[in-house]
Amino acid sequence: MSKQWKCGNCGLEVEATEELKELSFRWMDKLTSKTTCQNCGSYTIQRAFDDRFQGGHFLIVKARMKR
Ligand SMILES: [Zn+2]
Repeated sequence: MSKQWKCGNCGLEVEATEELKELSFRWMDKLTSKTTCQNCGSYTIQRAFDDRFQGGHFLIVKARMKR
């Protein structure tokens, strides 16, 4: 099973793999993860409310687009 991931800033579409390595997925701490767009450098921080991961906050940080 695969899913498409689309950058909300530059519109880049990539096929998301399980490990999300194309999005530089990494954990920042136990409940917080970060994905980064390889094209424009925008990143999204996902923070779960608790370790059941049934809900959480998203913070999308858009990179400044080059002209
Ligand atoms: Zn992007």
